[in-house]
Amino acid sequence: MTTALLEVKNLEKKFAAKSVWFQKKQYVHAVNGVSLALDEKETIGIVGESGCGKSTTGRCILRLIEPTSGEVLFQGKDITTLSKREMNEIRKDIQMVFQDPMASMNPKLKVREILSEPLIAHKIPRLEHEQLLSETMRLVGLSEEHLSRFPHELSGGQRQRIGIARAIILRPKIVVLDEPVSALDVSVQSQILNLLQDLQDELGLSYLFISHDLGVVEHIAHTVGVMYLGEMVEIASKEQLFEQPLHPYTKALLSAIPKTDPDEVKERIILKGELPSPSNPPTGCKFHPRCIFAMDICKTAKPDLRQVEGRQVACHLV
Ligand code: SF4
Repeated sequence: MTTALLEVKNLEKKFAAKSVWFQKKQYVHAVNGVSLALDEKETIGIVGESGCGKSTTGRCILRLIEPTSGEVLFQGKDITTLSKREMNEIRKDIQMVFQDPMASMNPKLKVREILSEPLIAHKIPRLEHEQLLSETMRLVGLSEEHLSRFPHELSGGQRQRIGIARAIILRPKIVVLDEPVSALDVSVQSQILNLLQDLQDELGLSYLFISHDLGVVEHIAHTVGVMYLGEMVEIASKEQLFEQPLHPYTKALLSAIPKTDPDEVKERIILKGELPSPSNPPTGCKFHPRCIFAMDICKTAKPDLRQVEGRQVACHLV
């Protein structure tokens, strides 16, 4: 049996909710038992509405937020138990790209200094810096001339290329991308997605691609995980998920994607109500108040994520 490059097992993150002193302490279950396995050169897309726990999952994997419980196995080794120093070593291999690169860059530093930070932090010999800087700029489709610019002198797309350059300059194995194209115009989005695919081919990267946009995920992912209120409700190959979704929530999300083919017959499934508060989630299947197929059992019994027709689904119907 081959081991996945990254395996997440039963990941949980609870945040303490504000409570009044005489009440029992309450928790918000932001991530509840998420498991997934990422192979070399694979892209897993994690989709779901805002607040479903997908970004918290990404941050817990990198331990930018400490998970409450669960395991994150990188090359078979659980990284949730590593010391701060050991974890810093691992960050060479697992990097992150954020939605807003400006928010994670010091605006007073030039691109050269921004990209040099990880090289200095990981004690890469000075002699290698120039070559890594120029090669990385080439890889992300920018010229060396951009190294002497400040972030505010770049376009949104160029800034995201710098965000990607900073993530790949140490030549990691995995990049967690949190809504990397959501703030960009559609034409720039596709350039960045194509760049990510080229980098995956050239550097053999694996991606965990977090997005609320199923259209974007369809473009880039090999496997897709759908999250609802902190839980995975369906994990399938891109083809299975987009051609024949099984979970009612996946069906509803897919039905909301605009048609590209005018002859395509597509019935829009309108979800009932709003996303419930994660601090007070529904009993049983958390999706039951909004599900058009809900049965009595759905109100009381939580469906497990089960293997069905070569994919995983959590629904009593399936
Ligand atoms: Fe709908 Fe019930 Fe399936 Fe939940 S378990 S998705 S409520 S049919």
